[in-house]
Amino acid sequence: MTKIGLEIHCQLTKLESKLFCSCKANYREFEPNHNICPVCMGLPGSLPRLNQKAVKSATSIAMALNCQTPEKIAFFRKNYFYPDLPKNFQITQLNVYGDMSVGGEGYVDVEGKKIKIRRIQLEEDPGRLIYEGASDRTKITLVDYNRAGTPLVEIVTDPDFENPRQVRVFLNILSDLLENLGVSEPGLEGAMRADGNVSIEGGTKVEIKNIGSFHDLEKALHFELTRQQSLHERDIEIAMETRHWDDRRKITISSRSKEEDQDYRYFLENDIPWVKINQETRDILKKNMPESIGSKRERYVEKYDIAPQVADILSSDKYYSELFESAHDESNAKDIANLITTDLLGFIDTKEKREISKVTSQHLSDLVNAVNSKTLTRNSSKIALQEIVKSGKSVKDLLTEMDIGQVSDSSEIENIISQIFEEQKQAVIDAKERPETVNFLVGKVMQKTKGKADPVKTLELIKSKLEQ
Ligand SMILES: [Zn+2]
Repeated sequence: MTKIGLEIHCQLTKLESKLFCSCKANYREFEPNHNICPVCMGLPGSLPRLNQKAVKSATSIAMALNCQTPEKIAFFRKNYFYPDLPKNFQITQLNVYGDMSVGGEGYVDVEGKKIKIRRIQLEEDPGRLIYEGASDRTKITLVDYNRAGTPLVEIVTDPDFENPRQVRVFLNILSDLLENLGVSEPGLEGAMRADGNVSIEGGTKVEIKNIGSFHDLEKALHFELTRQQSLHERDIEIAMETRHWDDRRKITISSRSKEEDQDYRYFLENDIPWVKINQETRDILKKNMPESIGSKRERYVEKYDIAPQVADILSSDKYYSELFESAHDESNAKDIANLITTDLLGFIDTKEKREISKVTSQHLSDLVNAVNSKTLTRNSSKIALQEIVKSGKSVKDLLTEMDIGQVSDSSEIENIISQIFEEQKQAVIDAKERPETVNFLVGKVMQKTKGKADPVKTLELIKSKLEQ
């Protein structure tokens, strides 16, 4: 049987400062090595000071993942030598002598299967190594310490996944959950990284690291499973090791033999005292947590009668659910939900388009209300929305500017119907014989009026003209 486990690293990108100093958590906007100080560089005599908000964010994540959260937590030094680690140790957490990281023993439901969360720990991100060319052949490696000390949460699962597809579904759920909690922006480059470990029936565990995206993780897992199965079939022993994903060649390559915990010479970080997270603090955190995606989805379906697949899209995406929440009222919730998940979703289908989009919740409710009061046809509302996304103009202005107001005046529509009857003699004969073909004529009227004619009235008028 295939067993896959994950180690996910997620930066707390919504925090102001790093985990143990006042350098910015958002290191991305700095020139290399310009977001550093004696603390995150580990200079002699400097002392770390723990970012309280990071502890709270990490505890919220633990709670959202159904974990046990302890009364007090401790930090440890994980010693290893690597150019991206300025102190030669990483301040992290370890579960020894009882549960002392921010959370443990949780789970996530993935398509009816419980994926167990073994532990969640708060730690600092190392710096970044930038290679010139492939990492195993490079002659030059650059080091940027701007990222060193950024608050990072490590989430470790049990090896509960049976295939790479389940892994992808889980990561999507997790990424939506972190975004919904307001602690991280998983879409930012490097904000969410995942390593996998893979073993097949009777085999040893192999870790895969250095995976740039979730898409690549799925590919790397597939590659690794195939590699292990082929070794197994030829009776070759699978070595316990760490392998790196080579993004260019799309293969995993052996990088070093796997370290055991004892290789890291963990010891207690005595510069940071034990941190107490009392019951009251945990109660407040729990109370202030945003509504979960699951409960939002349920509410949308039950209260507003929104279709389950529409509710899925709305609830799992923080941006869309916030738009929906502020745009709808009791009477138009279903229409707003449909407008977002059909028309709007098509116009802002990438992160870049979403960022420059000018659409607001006011636009959405104005559009839906205009359609419901027959000032605008459904068709024209789509044209208007496309323009709003670009210009942000009000619905009222667009109605005059774009001349898209709905035509409900009977005599005006009758005139157009007469023209169409002249032009489409055969279709008129067909419609008299086979009433189901009448939609062709309705379509012609809509075409001529650029979608402005009231479709219900148009159908009525055509039908009565056919009977004359
Ligand atoms: Zn610093």
